[in-house]
Amino acid sequence: MIIDCHGHYTVLPKAHDEWREAQTAAFKSVGDYPPYPAISDDEIRETIEANQLRLLKERGADMTIFSPRASAMAPHVGDQSVAVRWAQVCNDLITRVVGLYPENFAGVCMLPQSPEADMTSSIAELRRCVAMGFVGCNLNPDPGGGHFRHPPLTDRYWYPFYEVMVELDVPAMIHVSGSCNPAMHATGAYYIAADTIAFMQLIEGNLFKDFPTLRLIIPHGGGAVPYHWGRYRGLADMLKQPDLQSHVMNNVYFDTCVYHQPGINLLCDVIENKNILFGSEMVGAVRGIDPATGHYFDDTKRFIDALDISDAERHAIFEGNARRVFPRLDAQLKARGR
Ligand SMILES: [Zn+2]
Repeated sequence: MIIDCHGHYTVLPKAHDEWREAQTAAFKSVGDYPPYPAISDDEIRETIEANQLRLLKERGADMTIFSPRASAMAPHVGDQSVAVRWAQVCNDLITRVVGLYPENFAGVCMLPQSPEADMTSSIAELRRCVAMGFVGCNLNPDPGGGHFRHPPLTDRYWYPFYEVMVELDVPAMIHVSGSCNPAMHATGAYYIAADTIAFMQLIEGNLFKDFPTLRLIIPHGGGAVPYHWGRYRGLADMLKQPDLQSHVMNNVYFDTCVYHQPGINLLCDVIENKNILFGSEMVGAVRGIDPATGHYFDDTKRFIDALDISDAERHAIFEGNARRVFPRLDAQLKARGR
């Protein structure tokens, strides 16, 4: 099997997006917003079959681990109650996609994080979603949307959430949302910066001493980390931390959302095979075709296919590692004989 660990529901039924506009407008004017609209299975099929499912099949992958549109999670918009309702309706749509295409999609939930809130509502939503069959979550390290005012991921602020992740045996992808900081472009600057910042936070702290089975995926190839691996090894040494392999790399994984062959080559040279999960972030961050190759920038499967590695290593990136990191997905697949 080929499992893409990183996909978002980016082209949605219109009524869903319209309801969100009404919800946020009502928050600004302290008004009421309409009930969530009825959306038919056909509307969902239309959006999925024209986009993610079509591309999945064209590119030769089997399944996408699928979450709500990341840039629209927008925890900085509204307050906790706005975030709770928004997360519920977004995650419910993912449930319906998975219900319509159980062989092609597995659910990962967004969380109702909010700048002033603790993690209580996020814990409740994670529990609700896992009970519906979700296999992981997206955890936003910066719910303020581009100002990094939250404590590092190693801070006790996050611990109640990690405790539930461990109890439910689900991983989190560390994933920011839209940027409300004009100095930071969302997918070009904010995403990659947040990935890199998260990794450095993990080096400075001792999170995995307290949570030895916690699993975090740092997307977009780990931000700038693989390219600067020597810097991070050296910083761990200067900070009198253990070497990176034992300090963080039993718990941290990078996906392959790197949109050119030399970048993938470097990722797979520097980072151990066991820590790499196939991902494309399709359809999302970069939608165009690379004029140098004639292929979509986010068609990352081609880059993995072209790597000079053993079949066993390629299998680990495409399937084996994802089954290890997402044991609930592995169990669901095995129950279906896959
Ligand atoms: Zn993403």
